Amino acid sequence: MSDFVITPPAIAAVPVAGGGRFPVRRIFCIGRNYAEHAREMGHDPEREPPFFFCKPADTIVTGGANTPYPPGTNDLHHEIEFVAAIGKAGADIAVADAPAHVWGYAAGIDLTRRDLQAEAKKLARPWDMSKGFDHSAPIGELVPASRIGHPAKGTIEIKVNGESRQRSDLADMIWPVADAIAYLSTLVALAPGDLIFTGTPAGVAAVQRGDLLEGRIEGVGTVSTRIV
Ligand code: MN
Repeated sequence: MSDFVITPPAIAAVPVAGGGRFPVRRIFCIGRNYAEHAREMGHDPEREPPFFFCKPADTIVTGGANTPYPPGTNDLHHEIEFVAAIGKAGADIAVADAPAHVWGYAAGIDLTRRDLQAEAKKLARPWDMSKGFDHSAPIGELVPASRIGHPAKGTIEIKVNGESRQRSDLADMIWPVADAIAYLSTLVALAPGDLIFTGTPAGVAAVQRGDLLEGRIEGVGTVSTRIV
């Protein structure tokens, strides 16, 4: 018998293309990793090292399920992102060794309560409530790196109701995935089950109830959800 005093929470998991589920331990996200997006948010992309924030593991939305419009905001934004899933533990990982720590990749959406984020920035407060709210991380099927390798280029795009909103290329990332993993692993020991949302290109914008979000990353996969 377990000695837990309440029923243990379920383990969040991402479906894997071809079968199985990838259990999620933590979700790390990179801020400002595409120069044009950094500029649209009022920052100089040349000057800043990567920085990170987190979402709880159970914020993922999988299987194309609907995403409820969250409370506390009137300005919910989409951010399409390339997601790396860590399969092998490591700290102080060298850039050259980083790919060996990645189990697979997926397309994800970093939903953001932009009004709460703007207020947090103004008041120098944490981003948790603007980024880590319930259902804030829709994610598509995870594809094993053993099948697709480690994509360094390819179109990253999101359409809202069929209209392209963000479209860029993985090659435009300021910090490529391997560099980001190496840097993050100097701050925390990465562990199997960790997801890394690697930042979003320019074109972030508001979504409304009823909108269909369809993201795709060339050579990786898709993510879709409807805001309800
Ligand atoms: Mn983001």
